[in-house]
Amino acid sequence: MSLPADYHMHTPLCRHASGEPVDYARRAVELGLTEIGFSDHSPMRRDDFDNWRMRADQLDEYVAKVRLAQKTFPQLTIRLALEVDYLPGHEDWIRQLAARHPWDYFIGSVHYVSESWDIDNPAKLSEWKKRDAFEVWQIYFERLTLATESKLFDIIGHSDLPKKFGIRPAQDCTPLYKNFLAAAAKAGCAIELNTAGLRKDCKEIYPSREILQLAFENHVPITFGSDAHAPEEVGLNFTEAIALARSVGYAETCRFNQRQRESVWL
Ligand code: ZN
Ligand code: FE
Ligand code: FE
Ligand code: ZN
Repeated sequence: MSLPADYHMHTPLCRHASGEPVDYARRAVELGLTEIGFSDHSPMRRDDFDNWRMRADQLDEYVAKVRLAQKTFPQLTIRLALEVDYLPGHEDWIRQLAARHPWDYFIGSVHYVSESWDIDNPAKLSEWKKRDAFEVWQIYFERLTLATESKLFDIIGHSDLPKKFGIRPAQDCTPLYKNFLAAAAKAGCAIELNTAGLRKDCKEIYPSREILQLAFENHVPITFGSDAHAPEEVGLNFTEAIALARSVGYAETCRFNQRQRESVWL
């Protein structure tokens, strides 16, 4: 059995990751992975939007770094991608980004539930105390559903990110999940199993078993990602992620080339 592709990894251009793409690729080869994809945090229209992504004028440098890794490790399939922040109103900017390079896929992620609050930012943990958790979940999943319906993305990133710090609403969130997954099924958009959640306070893969079970029932395709911000994190906990996917019924994963999806056996 070969391991599924690791489609979620970052580069130092985002200012909170270490190691060059060649280092991540070397680690992937060591682990016996046959395919990976770089999906660093995309630039925003305004470079001063926040401080955890590349600037717009660094996009070519990013692509060059990924191309260098491809040249250095010809035995490894290396995809060129971005983790793109979805905020309502940013659609035109995302289309502009899509036109700039021959991307293999876009991961659409919601980190912002307002123009100024990125819910996974540890520096803004105090915001959680000011808000009702269920309200945050509702806004987040509304935005995730809009992201899916925009058809701008091939994969939706860490779909239950609000659980990161272990703060969870008491209310039943199943209707929010169902609404999002129906949109994903309709748009033909995949979701990722992101193992970074295991390294956070929630100590759980993104998304939860409940969401993944509903995704399977809705025929939503899946990909795998470590969300590596350092070379040592490449492919981390993939065994657990594969076991989780299989346990809810998945026998297939998928890969992307030039934004075309192909199913492969898991
Ligand atoms: Zn990051
Ligand atoms: Fe993210
Ligand atoms: Fe990421
Ligand atoms: Zn991420």
